[in-house]
Amino acid sequence: MDFAKRMNLLGTENAFEVLSEVRKLEARGQHIISFAIGEPDFDTPEHIKRASIQALHENQTHYAPSAGLAELREAIAEHVSAMRGIPASPDEVVVTSGAKPIIYYAIHALVNPGDEVIYPNPGFPIYESVVRFVGGIPVPATLLESRDFRFDMDRFSRLVTSKTKLIILNSPQNPTGGMLTATDLAAIAQLAVEHDIWVLADEIYSRIVYEGNFTSIASFPGMKERTVILDGFSKTYAMTGWRLGYGVMPTELAQLVARLVTNSDSCTNTFVQFGGIAALRGPQDAVTAMVREFRTRRDGIVETLNRIPGISCKTPSGAFYVFPNVTDACRSLGLKTGKEFQRLLLEEAGVAVLPRTAFGTPGDDEEGEYVRLSYATSRDNIEEGLARIRRIVIG
Ligand code: PLP
Repeated sequence: MDFAKRMNLLGTENAFEVLSEVRKLEARGQHIISFAIGEPDFDTPEHIKRASIQALHENQTHYAPSAGLAELREAIAEHVSAMRGIPASPDEVVVTSGAKPIIYYAIHALVNPGDEVIYPNPGFPIYESVVRFVGGIPVPATLLESRDFRFDMDRFSRLVTSKTKLIILNSPQNPTGGMLTATDLAAIAQLAVEHDIWVLADEIYSRIVYEGNFTSIASFPGMKERTVILDGFSKTYAMTGWRLGYGVMPTELAQLVARLVTNSDSCTNTFVQFGGIAALRGPQDAVTAMVREFRTRRDGIVETLNRIPGISCKTPSGAFYVFPNVTDACRSLGLKTGKEFQRLLLEEAGVAVLPRTAFGTPGDDEEGEYVRLSYATSRDNIEEGLARIRRIVIG
């Protein structure tokens, strides 16, 4: 069969491969504890569901504007403005079916073939995939465990060339749970302004922060006009399956992104957008409770992992992932890679984690083997899963 050549450039999210292996093992009757899933194990708050159900009853079942319903764009602009301390207006907002399309659209609207794009490694695999798809050159910037999964800013600044068009940031970060500090962001902002570079700030985990305050790079001088903020409802309000997210960006770019929406989705589901309005304008106690529960789980999982010989785990500041170093555990089990460790855990212990390689190819300046565990699963599952890992490692 003869497909378009560009399809050879498009990558994927390997996480889904592990998930399908888990399903297969479960179908054979095995009880798998999964730390592989990147979504809250909470239900969407009732008042959000009610708002969308009511919208359905009121026949809000027609097309909406490509950029999103005016009332939702207003609510988003107010929220983004209050949370980040920056002015934001509804015409800078584009609503999308989940936050992920903002990555796809922003890269399509900004990156020419041959342009270089700096992105975090390990990181969300879709960045590299879409950059390659448009003919851009992916330039990975390593997040170092020794720096609490932040960049070495000297090395980072050496990645910038005259061809750098875009810097992608993700803080709090998937897969490490690390956060860039305000000092890091200030240094990156200075580079972006000096070299006239756009920034795509993936802030999908901005409300899931345990230590310190969330800072957006868009709030630094000269940055708002060159930043695309990506955020959404999936993680904060446990709404992954609803598919509702947004980007906030300069108006001219927002118009181009809306045109991409017109050419692909037409618009985001109309009655779902009413749920989004209720989420932003309604009570936030469910978010506070969820983040409090995640923090308790984080503290437990970090402590227990650090008590397993051969595993060491930093305490992440945000998101709901830990990214333990499993190098010594691999060595003592005679395994060469974290990928082999992941397979062993799945096949011998019935525990699903994701290998480091699901988040990009390790850079030359990275040492060690890692896996990602999501603690968006019950405390009982966490306890049982970690006990199984311990048994496998100590033999
Ligand atoms: N960005 C990062 C870093 C993520 O981890 C995810 C989801 O896993 C997304 C974006 C996409 O979010 P959504 O489900 O709203 O499309």
